[in-house]
Amino acid sequence: MHINMNEKLRNLMDKANKFEKMSLEIKKCKKCNLYKTRTKPVIGSGSFNSEIFFIGEAPGKNEDILGKPFVGRAGKILDDLLKSINLTKEDIYIANILKCRPPNNRNPQKNEIKKCTNFLDKQIRIINPSIIAPLGNFAASYIFEKFNLKYEKIGLIHGKKFQTNTSFGKIIVIPLFHPAVATYNPNKMSDLLNDFKILKKIIK
Ligand code: URA
Repeated sequence: MHINMNEKLRNLMDKANKFEKMSLEIKKCKKCNLYKTRTKPVIGSGSFNSEIFFIGEAPGKNEDILGKPFVGRAGKILDDLLKSINLTKEDIYIANILKCRPPNNRNPQKNEIKKCTNFLDKQIRIINPSIIAPLGNFAASYIFEKFNLKYEKIGLIHGKKFQTNTSFGKIIVIPLFHPAVATYNPNKMSDLLNDFKILKKIIK
């Protein structure tokens, strides 16, 4: 029992150390131009022990100011969705494809995704999740390509379970609509709530 606890603690400290090192790298990163216009980089938040890793697109205005993911309008919707399956943002891990805010919330560009996603890849390896839930087209297409899954538009694959073998074991990918869609299309909220019910069944 004690050995088990010590091991868990060591594992958690090891993850925290790796994250600390990576956070310093992100803060110094100048690999694309977004560092020039952002306020704070948004690295990620949540539990290092989470079995589920959510992936968003990029920080928006509020995230850029606070340095935390999903703290604005889309974040409020994500909170409601998590609450519908008895979870909070502290129970899961969440990070974005891009760590710096694109000016005026424009779409991430190909070169930015290419330069930034080595940080996301490292985060996935450190957290070592058994479930990855990409939110929206940008995150889902990145994850599908990374894990050699055939990508179709999010409207066709949302809420479906995809099993894949990775260098760190078997994982399930469950693509979801980006919560922001519910801010301009309230009908999408019921799709999101249904998809979160499916997610709940997959989580142990
Ligand atoms: N949208 C995202 O994709 N990420 C955030 O952190 C906030 C809004």
